[in-house]
Amino acid sequence: MSENCNESCGSCGEECADRKVDFSEKPHELSKIKKVIGVVSGKGGVGKSMVTSLLAVTMKRKGYNTAILDADITGPSIPKAFGINEKARSTELGLFPISSKTGIEIMSINLLLENDTDPVVWRGPIIANTVKQFWTDVIWGEVDYMFVDMPPGTGDVPLTVFQSLPVDGIIIVTSPQELVSMIVAKAVNMAKMMKIPVLGLVENMSYFECPDCHKKHNLFGDSHIEEVAKQHGIEMVAKMPIDTSLAGACDKGLIELFDNTWLDKIAETLESDEEVSVKGENKMKIAVASDNGMVSGHFGHCESFVIYDTIDGKIVSSEAVPNPGHKPGFLPVFLNDQGVNVIISGGMGGGAVDIFNEKNIEVITGASGKAEDLVKSYLQGELKTTGSVCHEHQHHDECGE
Ligand code: ADP
Repeated sequence: MSENCNESCGSCGEECADRKVDFSEKPHELSKIKKVIGVVSGKGGVGKSMVTSLLAVTMKRKGYNTAILDADITGPSIPKAFGINEKARSTELGLFPISSKTGIEIMSINLLLENDTDPVVWRGPIIANTVKQFWTDVIWGEVDYMFVDMPPGTGDVPLTVFQSLPVDGIIIVTSPQELVSMIVAKAVNMAKMMKIPVLGLVENMSYFECPDCHKKHNLFGDSHIEEVAKQHGIEMVAKMPIDTSLAGACDKGLIELFDNTWLDKIAETLESDEEVSVKGENKMKIAVASDNGMVSGHFGHCESFVIYDTIDGKIVSSEAVPNPGHKPGFLPVFLNDQGVNVIISGGMGGGAVDIFNEKNIEVITGASGKAEDLVKSYLQGELKTTGSVCHEHQHHDECGE
């Protein structure tokens, strides 16, 4: 790094090991994607798409909103595994993914090509651009976990994809026929370069279990995958057998019906690892204009605002903040400064409602009863606003007008 470095790497011509250039792209404005998990392999055909699909199915079964971005543009096998034959729809707003039978949102180049068998003979930059557009132009909606079936290898195309998508963690898939040690080293180094954690190593086609005698055969000789994982300080999260019924389910487009527990360990990591867990992401602060534990009829003149901290739909703590005093337009700004997302009150003046709306704070009026009960019923989706606004009644001023 030069002595005069001002960290504006984008406009600096110096060759520098600390160069920081942000190639990241913003997702579509109608997409809210919490975690992005990249699935990588050293070469094609080792089962990367299979592992991506099974992971998405496993997480969907656990109740998460799940999506697959098929970035393997030259070998797109995801739609087939899910039995998707229709083409993606687009409007002036953007491109819509196709929902699988169980509701996994999928985008793949095969959903855009006229014929599934059309070859994609594009060069690297165009492939990388297409993947970027799957991120920026697709209306994904609310997604907890997006799995990206990465282009195989550790070359230019996967690298560009890594740079444009905010990947939170990667899973490496290998098979025993490969030069596993070298492939894992390359993938681990790429992840290090991008400062992305490696969540685990999956060995696919690890063995074959005889359906008659249940003896396990290592068809490709003994694997040394555990040692390789240990060498790189990564966790061996699954050994998947060659399974003819799995291949059959994929061929028939019925992967969602295939029952297995092979990827349970990695699913647990996704749920518990701080860097990739979506648990606790749904935090919300709900304020209730209160008088002695009951919701107040008059927002501006309530005794206090009881502010409830909630995570994933549950109250985790509460604090009563005394009403700092009523001046026109002041309280909504005050509550916004406290980080409040929802305000519940009996009555409220139109001026206050407008300021809350401007600040994207949801307003529930017309509420009555115990403050805590109201918050609980809000969290269950049962508390709706009556929308009533105090106009010219005698409490006009008390309602925060
Ligand atoms: P990649 O994405 O690495 O190119 P795929 O996931 O498309 O590889 O797998 C290649 C082929 O191998 C597919 O036909 C798939 O159905 C099959 N396959 C992958 N893993 C297994 C497995 N564990 N048992 C049986 N067949 C498998």
